[in-house]
Amino acid sequence: MYIGSHISISKGFANAAKTAVSMGANTFQFFTRNPRGAKAKNLEPKDIKNLIDIMEEYSFGPLLAHAPYTLNLASYKEHVYDFAKQIFKDDIKRLEQTPCNLYNFHPGNHTGKGVEYGTKRIADIINGTLTGNEKTMILLETMSGKGTEIGYTFEQLKNIIDKIKYSELMGVCLDTCHVYSAGYDIVNKLDNVLQEFDDILGIEKLKAIHLNDSMKEFNSRKDRHAIIGEGIIGLEAIIAIINHPQLTNIPFLLETPNDVEGHAEEIKLLKENKI
Ligand code: FE
Ligand code: FE
Ligand code: ZN
Repeated sequence: MYIGSHISISKGFANAAKTAVSMGANTFQFFTRNPRGAKAKNLEPKDIKNLIDIMEEYSFGPLLAHAPYTLNLASYKEHVYDFAKQIFKDDIKRLEQTPCNLYNFHPGNHTGKGVEYGTKRIADIINGTLTGNEKTMILLETMSGKGTEIGYTFEQLKNIIDKIKYSELMGVCLDTCHVYSAGYDIVNKLDNVLQEFDDILGIEKLKAIHLNDSMKEFNSRKDRHAIIGEGIIGLEAIIAIINHPQLTNIPFLLETPNDVEGHAEEIKLLKENKI
């Protein structure tokens, strides 16, 4: 099982990988730059080399890069849109120089212009960026559907992917808190939800899982993460997810409200319950 949590790379990639190892993890997620701002640290070849060494030594799974929350690829406001385009391009360019081959982002908010409009805006940026030669896979995150978020149904994600020229470079990151809030009953009907994913997107598009419990009830369209076993989803359902035969070899990343020690405990609990 590939399991890890969100870790800061403010002290470098190799340092984050060491932290992951100390937590019993064999993958991690990081923000490509400050989640609220635009600044990205310079890449250091020595740091990347050390990261690769640690990943090899400890048989890491794929790492997940997360775009900053401030990006809105669906925006109708030109300055917001141009900023998103610029950061998206720069992130992918930088990730091509690292062994982090999964890049996850929140598809976007249409802010009143409608899902169809937003979908086209998102696809335009992706199509304007990808050359088809990237080794980075672009992941759309499943959203909870709060506000005017796009991507809270599998159909909406499929509609974005269908507009992408190099759609083979596109995948999905399923956030357990978000899908549950969006009305996919992964607690009582996990098989059905995965079947629906397969029918609409194809299960092979599922490249990563954000493993979070939820503070908010089923179908609430709210996005509040809870510590594993302390939310509405509950430990039993989470254990069924990590042991599901269709989800082996997919990296599980915790985004629960916890510190490094807390995440290490969650990882320990999950590993104990991995059959
Ligand atoms: Fe996210
Ligand atoms: Fe998430
Ligand atoms: Zn969330």
